[in-house]
Amino acid sequence: MSRVVVVGAGVGGLAAACRLAAGRHRVTVLEAAEQVGGKLGSYERAGFRFDTGPSLLTMPEVFRDLFTATGGWPASLVLQRLDPLIRHRFADGTWLDSTDDLAEMTDRLDAALGAGAGADWRAFLERAGRIWEASRGPFLESPLHGPRTLASLALRHPGDLATLAPGRTLRALGRRYLRDARLRVLLDRYATYTGSDPRLAPAALAAIPYVEQQQGAWYVEGGLHRIAEALLERALDLGVEVRLGTPVSRILDPATGVVLADGGQLRADIVVANTDAAHLYGDLVPHRGASRRLARTIPSLSGFVLLLALRGRSTDQAHHTVLFPADYDAELDAVFGSQLVEDPTVYVSAPPDGAPDGHEAWFVLVNAPRQGPFDWRASGVTEGYADRVLQVMAERGLDVRDRLLWREVRTPADLEDRTGSVGGAIYGSSSNGARAAFLRPANRSPVPGLFLVGGSSHPGGGLPLVALSARIVSELVGPA
Ligand SMILES: Cc1cc2nc3c(=O)[nH]c(=O)nc-3n(C[C@H](O)[C@H](O)[C@H](O)COP(=O)(O)OP(=O)(O)OC[C@H]3O[C@@H](n4cnc5c(N)ncnc54)[C@H](O)[C@@H]3O)c2cc1C
Repeated sequence: MSRVVVVGAGVGGLAAACRLAAGRHRVTVLEAAEQVGGKLGSYERAGFRFDTGPSLLTMPEVFRDLFTATGGWPASLVLQRLDPLIRHRFADGTWLDSTDDLAEMTDRLDAALGAGAGADWRAFLERAGRIWEASRGPFLESPLHGPRTLASLALRHPGDLATLAPGRTLRALGRRYLRDARLRVLLDRYATYTGSDPRLAPAALAAIPYVEQQQGAWYVEGGLHRIAEALLERALDLGVEVRLGTPVSRILDPATGVVLADGGQLRADIVVANTDAAHLYGDLVPHRGASRRLARTIPSLSGFVLLLALRGRSTDQAHHTVLFPADYDAELDAVFGSQLVEDPTVYVSAPPDGAPDGHEAWFVLVNAPRQGPFDWRASGVTEGYADRVLQVMAERGLDVRDRLLWREVRTPADLEDRTGSVGGAIYGSSSNGARAAFLRPANRSPVPGLFLVGGSSHPGGGLPLVALSARIVSELVGPA
């Protein structure tokens, strides 16, 4: 039996703790915050409850696998399939409700965007499906071995390499298959699921809309934060010790233990870091080589969040709505150029629960530049931008200003403060650039005994990939 210390109780840290404890390791989780979940946070005020991070679960089978492998699916997690998946409003006023029923989706695309749009989407998905099959094993479900992974794929499965088209961007792939500019914008947005720019991110990200179309997207009754609560419960059941309010200030090199912020020390045979990789290699265990690699990546975008307590209930509001701007590229230029987005894409989640009777609790998210290159703490910025986002919503047909009881704002600076993600980058490094996947920090660190789990390490951010990283780490560590 090895003594394992996990630093951070985000989804990755808790999932790794559960798997390692199920493999008979003795596991202690040290979490700086007073609650578990990290970015998968929740907030309650005056009878309203909000998810402050994820609002959409994809690839639920990854969590099914995780819970099954560690003791069974928890009764507290009830998944609701979303239909429509997402209601989109394009800049010209066209509306489109996407669905995971492909025949229905084809009809809806033809009706909303014109004859042929459905066939284009199907042709695109056929290619995207091949990309998914070629990439999931070597790239998502295994530790990555740098460009060697591509080289061995080229040798063993040259057809797969051609399918992945490593030099092509998601934007270019969209241009190849989709004639309607609105459909291309819809595709572009999936790059932001990894915090990236579709003009630079690889075509391999086409796997994201494919998986969503194939498997649907899901809500968890009572809020997605329930996943973090269920993981905590499972970890405790498996004998994991979880210490909240316990920031770690240093990890020893080699990883034979950690130093706590209060000066205490904890010995370990193995340390698993669930912290942002930039915080890990910059502060906790400074490592010049790893930091230099990270410096060659482009950090992921961040998010500006409004939590809206609304009076009254809407009769025809979809759970998830995306309101596109006229100029999507201007938004991408601003976000990656560290500017405020004047005319952002607005994403609204209006869950069926979370509010007192006759009210609604809405979560609104727009892409935002990171704290640091842009100063979210400067006076007046936050409230002024919150007003602007509400105005943009109103201009696009979703005016809730006269229903507003109160609002709260979460900026990239808040995200940094609450989760230790440097600059509030949601996914660590972005997928911008053909080499991005290979520069993303590996799950096995160059520091002996130290492993990385979570959205800023391989295979990337978003709940399912984070849970996959926990599986990879538990396989790398092996049973006790
Ligand atoms: C606004 C927003 C919307 C999102 N929407 C979605 C979505 O719809 N679907 C989806 O799949 N994903 C979404 N994501 C992404 C998803 O939330 C993340 O990819 C995932 O939750 C990250 O998990 P993680 O394991 O990397 O850990 P994190 O959540 O980053 O947690 C890391 C933990 O480590 C702790 N920590 C850091 N430093 C220390 C230290 N020195 N000592 C001790 N503890 C420390 C932190 O307090 C934190 O609890 C969203 C994220 C955000 C912010």
